[in-house]
Amino acid sequence: MFISFEGIDGSGKSTQARLLAETLRAAGFDVIHTREPGGSKGAEEIRALVLEGDPDRWSAETEILLFTAARRDHMEKTILPALNAGQVVICDRFADSTRVFQGVTRGDLQAKVNRLHDEMIGIEPDMTLLFDMDPALGLARAKGRQTVEERFEDFGQDFQEKCRAAFLALAQTYPRFTVIDAGRDIDVVAREVADLVTTRLSA
Ligand code: C5P
Repeated sequence: MFISFEGIDGSGKSTQARLLAETLRAAGFDVIHTREPGGSKGAEEIRALVLEGDPDRWSAETEILLFTAARRDHMEKTILPALNAGQVVICDRFADSTRVFQGVTRGDLQAKVNRLHDEMIGIEPDMTLLFDMDPALGLARAKGRQTVEERFEDFGQDFQEKCRAAFLALAQTYPRFTVIDAGRDIDVVAREVADLVTTRLSA
């Protein structure tokens, strides 16, 4: 089973991915917890190329290619071997992040993202959990963190509103999505996520 976690910066998805991995392992499931961009040696190298250094040196199109290249390596080296071995794959961001961040926020490029995805990746998660929340709250949470990816988290509330709307539009399009109200207490959200996933795993 392949599960992706998506949402705007500060939505708490990474914390929730970690908590779900712990809960499933405690219940006896064989789990790998991975992330994008990254999740394999080559993809982590591409992550550094994209997220560090001068943020304006890549055009939107080049960024799509770099994120897709990272995803291809991640899929070949990490995701597919794990799925073939029967593991549960918990992935912090996957192609939907590219559909939003490169496909919507830097121009109307989602059709290009989708064509490249179909050609070079060709898989989708079985289940996508969208951690949805008011961007003002997400921004306040994100600002409390110090990461090398600050550039990506520093676009302000309009940017976050746009991302939120784009994620919600994807959730309307693809039945694999479940929208989680991520503005609630961490433990409440974690319990809902664990219930949803364990129900699906035992179906
Ligand atoms: O998941 P996390 O918040 O750690 O992602 C790191 C940063 O990379 C985020 O700020 C996100 O905006 C950005 N990103 C992106 N395009 C992607 C995936 C992530 O711009 N396809």
